[in-house]
Amino acid sequence: MQNIITIICLIISTSIFAKGKTNEAYLLLNPSKKIIKTLSSYPEISFDHATKTTLEIYGPEGLKKYLDSLDVQVLPLETHKSEKEYANYPTPNEINEKVLLLQQQHPDICQIQQIGTSIQGRPIYAVKISDNPTEDETEPEVKYIANMHGDEIVGRELMVLLIEELLTKYKLNDANVTKLINNTEIFIVPSMNPDGALNRRRGNADWVDLNRDFPDFTTRDNENTPHGREVETKSIMEWQQSRNFSLSANFHGGAEVVNYPWDTSAEEHPLHQFVLEISQEYANQVPGMKNSTEFPGGVVNGYDWYEVNGGMQDWSYYWHNDLQVTIELSNTKWPRYSEVARYWEENKIALIDFLGKAHQGIALRLNENDKFVSIEKDGEHIGFFEVKNNEFHKVLPEGYYQITTLDQARNALKSIKQKVSKGNQITNYISL
Ligand SMILES: [Zn+2]
Repeated sequence: MQNIITIICLIISTSIFAKGKTNEAYLLLNPSKKIIKTLSSYPEISFDHATKTTLEIYGPEGLKKYLDSLDVQVLPLETHKSEKEYANYPTPNEINEKVLLLQQQHPDICQIQQIGTSIQGRPIYAVKISDNPTEDETEPEVKYIANMHGDEIVGRELMVLLIEELLTKYKLNDANVTKLINNTEIFIVPSMNPDGALNRRRGNADWVDLNRDFPDFTTRDNENTPHGREVETKSIMEWQQSRNFSLSANFHGGAEVVNYPWDTSAEEHPLHQFVLEISQEYANQVPGMKNSTEFPGGVVNGYDWYEVNGGMQDWSYYWHNDLQVTIELSNTKWPRYSEVARYWEENKIALIDFLGKAHQGIALRLNENDKFVSIEKDGEHIGFFEVKNNEFHKVLPEGYYQITTLDQARNALKSIKQKVSKGNQITNYISL
């Protein structure tokens, strides 16, 4: 036994990092391709927000020592924790109280579900906004998730403001919002990482970067199982499995740009042109994105920017047919609280419009035998998709589609042709 312990200790001490948790963060100046390649070979190290001259680096204890040995220029990532203006944000508790109050005021269109609990015991809430919110209706399902990086706070604030805006406008009979809420199941998770938010920290209470914790079809971690992952990641995975989301966005900070898939692969996404268009439509409505000098048109392909393995965006489409983009809302991850109002004004129309895009596509009501749906466009096969809860919905670009349902053994059952037009409104699901 003693020998085994000695061997284990030897193995641990020969690793260049003391622990596996991501708790050091630096800004690397003028990174060369060679250095990035070297750093990429360590799975413990992750990157974020590459610019022409800087790269954020996150890694376990010992990262600084290692970087010093490489002869590169690094700065600690700046925070202003002590200044009052930066400390004015609500606590995770106050955010939850706020959304619970909104539910109380609008129970006819708002229902809160607790989809998980953080490591430190904080509830993770999904706010459902729809007519008949206690029923699971056959309507397109769309979701927003913010604050998976605890220190990227603007998304969480904008989600609460968005919930309030949707509920208020419905009450005032705003035509656009009323139509959206009556025909869509909207889900909003203001904070996926409340422990990180409380401590103004990127990772969760285990110091794990949740946007590197999902299954990835290009790595060895390519099984769609929640087993062995952080509780916050598990919560999202299990919730997603129970629903039929077809469109989603996840919100970050540190840049102002819409990042579209893939993040993990240089290959073109099967809906490349379409996801590019909806990303551009979002960015076009936000001055800070539209006029970006760093990102032409305010959009960027994830992989072209910097490769992300284990991200939520790619997992969402690859395993769940849920087209997701990553929206970076603010150049500063944690700006002065007073700046939130400006970000809200700049993003609110785009945020509501994007939800409506869940209505462009096909929607089917199916029966028990229909296990998969196969879709072709102009003779080209787009994919096989799993059917959940006897309904199927997919966001698609304009065009004519051949849709076939399949049984468990993938034998064709029924087939129809369906047209998708720009911005069409799904109010009825086709029964097949
Ligand atoms: Zn982030």
